[in-house]
Parts: sequence; structure tokens; C-alpha cells
Amino acid sequence: MNAPVTRRNAVLGIAVAATSLATPSILHAQSAGRVVVVGGGFGGAACARALKRAGANLRVTLIEPNKVFTACPFSNEVIAGLRDIELQQFGYDKLASEGITVIGLAATKIEPQRRTVTTADGAELAYDRLVLSPGIDFHFEGLPGYDDAASEKMPHAWKAGAQTLLLRRQLEAMEDGGTVAIAVPANPSRCPPAPYERASLIAHYLKTRKPRSKVLILDAKDGFSQQRLFEKAWKELYGDMIERVALSQGGRVTSVDPATRTIVTEFGNYTPDVANVIPPQRAGRIAEIAGATDTTGWCPINPVTFESQLVKSLHVIGDACLGGGIPKSASAASSQGKACANAIIGMLAGRAVEAPRLTGVCYNTVAPGYGFSLAGNYQPRGDIFAEVEGGATSPVDAPRELRAREAAEAERWFQTITADTFG
Ligand SMILES: Cc1cc2nc3c(=O)[nH]c(=O)nc-3n(C[C@H](O)[C@H](O)[C@H](O)COP(=O)(O)OP(=O)(O)OC[C@H]3O[C@@H](n4cnc5c(N)ncnc54)[C@H](O)[C@@H]3O)c2cc1C
Repeated sequence: MNAPVTRRNAVLGIAVAATSLATPSILHAQSAGRVVVVGGGFGGAACARALKRAGANLRVTLIEPNKVFTACPFSNEVIAGLRDIELQQFGYDKLASEGITVIGLAATKIEPQRRTVTTADGAELAYDRLVLSPGIDFHFEGLPGYDDAASEKMPHAWKAGAQTLLLRRQLEAMEDGGTVAIAVPANPSRCPPAPYERASLIAHYLKTRKPRSKVLILDAKDGFSQQRLFEKAWKELYGDMIERVALSQGGRVTSVDPATRTIVTEFGNYTPDVANVIPPQRAGRIAEIAGATDTTGWCPINPVTFESQLVKSLHVIGDACLGGGIPKSASAASSQGKACANAIIGMLAGRAVEAPRLTGVCYNTVAPGYGFSLAGNYQPRGDIFAEVEGGATSPVDAPRELRAREAAEAERWFQTITADTFG
């Protein structure tokens, strides 16, 4: 039986996990084993925690190089000066206190035949099952001129932390009357609506501090998630402050020159005052090292067990996997982490694994007190997840009270998912 899909359930990602993880006593007897999780973000931390909570005899190790995780959701508010970055940061003490061994290093090598992971200090760990949740890395070959050095001049701010603060400082330093360009990649990419949320919140910052300025979106797509809701909000809140050049208008960015801060598109060149360049993406590099990526750069999986189609005993969750209809979001990663934990526990105990029903909810805040959302349900279909009935999008024509309520719900969603994952 699946839990009904409410936004609260979607927040907790519990449609399958809650029911199937409710039989831990059987698991204790049968499934002592070693599970190593690589990546302590929304997917990996949720998975490690669900594994340990359901299978007390499991030896669960989480490998994550950062002592403090900086969350991307709500990082657009940090960029717009509406929030301190400290509110985005979470440690691993609680996970460690629950019996998860937390190793503060990067995983550098995976040998699937020997079932070992090597960490940056050269130590090897053996596993029975390995979970990869390394998030994204950038596909620099897909954007000539852009690399780590270029990101210091034209920040992506697509991994939260120093890049988030750099973009904020650049906005603060810009003169009134300037242009902020946001280069948006094609899908699949991390959190498809987030570039438009960012454009909105930067417009809010400019409207209140530098009202003669503009936001220019250079887009490798024609349509985008929740487009009608965004465009209505832009008109209502920001007039003509935000301009978008879509793919069919030549908006796709083909190269950049960081020395002159030039963005080259299929239509022409732009030299904005602030250039936020979000490059094309692929699975975190360790997934490629493990041999779990295909030619797309992402990881094909069995969507029932999250096991890699390319590497045995290795599971991939979160942004790194090829999920089909399920968006690359924190909400989905958390839901996948729990369902993957459930699958691993079943596999270690020799039980058949039930197909999961995943949930995802995505809130967008376009100004303080103005939010909307999209909630969806997903089930395995063939090699991917397909969206199934029961999802909900905010109505386009809604009173401002609903927008204010959804903005407050968004903040509650963040509190809930971060407490559920790290707290
Ligand atoms: C601006 C922005 C706004 C967003 N807003 C939302 C939102 O409102 N709602 C929402 O649901 N989602 C949102 N997202 C998306 C969300 O942040 C991601 O989808 C989510 O973090 C994916 O979880 P993950 O576990 O796959 O990766 P991550 O959370 O990125 O975690 C990956 C972890 O793996 C670690 N790692 C990488 N390589 C290694 C290695 N070799 N060894 C050990 N560890 C490694 C990294 O250090 C990192 O901690 C947003 C994203 C952005 C950029």
C-alpha cells in the first residue's frame, strides 16, 4: 500500500519507504552486511540514515570530503541577499551518533571486482553493496572557454558554498544600470526550475537596490518547468526587468571568454556586467571512475533497486542517475535514498524488492512572500522513472494569499527535509 501523496509526504519522500522500512526485526536477524555510501548530500545522507535505522546490524559507512554540507535549495536567496549562508549548512554529527561511520575524505577509486573503495588517503574499504550519490560535475567540454578558473570570473553557483557568495559579491559590486546574464544549460541538469527562480530573486534584489538594471536569461531551452507561473510572476513583480532569449531565438550559449567576460550565443555576443554561467552537467566524477556512466555522462540504473546497469553491487541515486521523468532535485534524491536503502536491505536479506513509488516536490520563491510549487509521483517504467497520476501544480491564477502561503510552505519544506536528512 502506498501512502497518499500529500505535499508533506512528498517532502519526506515516504510513499514507499515508510511502509517497507517498517519491518526492521526481520532485517536485524538476516542482513548484517557492509554498505558504503559515497556522497553525503541529500541522497547519500538520507540513504545512509535509512539503512542504519532499518538494519541496526548493518555496517554503514558514509564517505564525504566536506565536514559541512552546504545545501543548494534556498541558495538563490543567499545570492539575492535575503538569507545568510549559515542557514544552508549542516554537519554529520547526528549521523555519526546514530552509528554511521563517517569518513571525511573523498573516494578516489572504486574496484567493482574486488568490491573496494579507496579514499584520498589511500585506505581501502570493502563493501557488500556500494551506493553512489555524488551529485553533479560539470561537462566543461560542452562549453568551450569555461573551466574551474573561468568560474572564478563567471561563477556558476550551481554547487552551493564559495560560488554562491562570489555571485552575491559580484551583484553587490555592480553599478546601477548594469546587466546580469544567466546562461542556462539544456536538460538533463540539476534542478531545472532553479535558474528561473534565481533570475526572479536577482530581479528582486535589483528592483530594491539598483532599479535601472536588468536580468538577461540566455537559454538553451525553448520551454521550461512551471513557465506560465514564472512568466506571470515576472510581469506582475518585475515588469520588463527580466528578458529571456530562448533556444529558438539563438539563446543557447556556445562558448565563453572569461578574460573579457564575453558570452557567445548562436545569435550574438554579450558582455554583461555580471555573468552567471551554468555549464552543462554530468554525474559526479567518481561515478565515471567506477565505470557507472554511459555516453550521456549519467548513470543508467534499474529503477526498482537503483542498481547500476553497468556495474554489479553498485547503486546510484540522486542527481547522478538517469532518472527519466523524475527531476534532479533534493526532494527526489532524498526519496531515492530511502527507497534504495529499502532495496538494499531486501537484497541482503534475499527478499524480492517491491517497485518504489517516489515523490518529489519543488518550491520556487520568486520574491519574499511569493511562491509556487510542483509536486509529482514517479514509478519505474522500463529503465527509467515515469511520472504517474496524483501530482499537483499551483494554479496560474491564484490570489496573493496562496502565493504567500506557498512561500511559507517552502521554508517549512526546507526545515523538514534538512532535519530529516541531517538533524
Ligand atoms: C540553485 C539551486 C537551487 C535548488 N533548489 C532546490 C529546491 O528548491 N528543491 C529541491 O528539491 N532541489 C533543489 N535543488 C537541487 C538539489 O540541490 C540537488 O538535486 C540535490 O542536492 C541532489 O542530491 P545528491 O545527493 O544527488 O547530490 P548533492 O546533494 O550535491 O550531494 C553530493 C555529495 O557528494 C559528495 N561527493 C562528490 N564526489 C565525491 C567523492 N568522490 N567522494 C565522496 N563524496 C563525494 C559532494 O561533496 C556532495 O556533498 C537546487 C539546486 C540548485 C543548484
